[in-house]
Amino acid sequence: MMYAEEDYLMLSGIQHFAFCRRQWAMIHIEQQWAENYRTTAGELMHKKAHEENSFEKRGSLLIVRGLRISSPELGLSGQCDVVEFHEDEKGVELFGYDSTWKPVPVEYKRGMPKENNADELQLCAQAICLEGMFQTDITEGYLYYGENRRRSHVEFTDGLRAEVRKMAKEMHDLFRRGYTPNVKPGKQCKACSLESLCIPKLQKAVKVREYMERHIKMED
Ligand code: SF4
Repeated sequence: MMYAEEDYLMLSGIQHFAFCRRQWAMIHIEQQWAENYRTTAGELMHKKAHEENSFEKRGSLLIVRGLRISSPELGLSGQCDVVEFHEDEKGVELFGYDSTWKPVPVEYKRGMPKENNADELQLCAQAICLEGMFQTDITEGYLYYGENRRRSHVEFTDGLRAEVRKMAKEMHDLFRRGYTPNVKPGKQCKACSLESLCIPKLQKAVKVREYMERHIKMED
């Protein structure tokens, strides 16, 4: 199935979805957002990567920042922090540049590598978008972590690709139904920017909108 442009969801939502389906739904379906240090610092780092929105050539390497990407197959759209184009005879032609180039996505993250594979999934989703846009195969990318200032190599395996496709489909199913999954408290809740809205301590499903409405009524 191919999605129409007006139905695209945010590609960056993949990392929220992998972290917790409920958190994703609260942000992307119910549009609730609690700023905390993690999100603010992460956004600042992204802003820096996206703001520059430039092309830079360094020998046999072309660096493109802030490239807008989308995939009708996944129904996702977003922006790449950085896409490196490596001069390669099996690469693709780029308008205004001689030679052929192999695209390699690079995503910047605050902090250290995570316990789950949310960052790898997001990067792989970017690669699937780029493959469709440039009609080429992309086998690898890199995640750059601010805390240890290191690049970690990511191979886009069939397994990772299948997980991305499954998640994108689940995201669209939930979005279409407007359904926010119930609270499932876990150790990830300690690092969740929406903990105060989600109130996992009650250990029962409370729709955020209902919770907010109840509190607004109590204050009236
Ligand atoms: S507090 Fe826990 S259950 Fe609630 S959205 Fe965050 S991670 Fe998910």
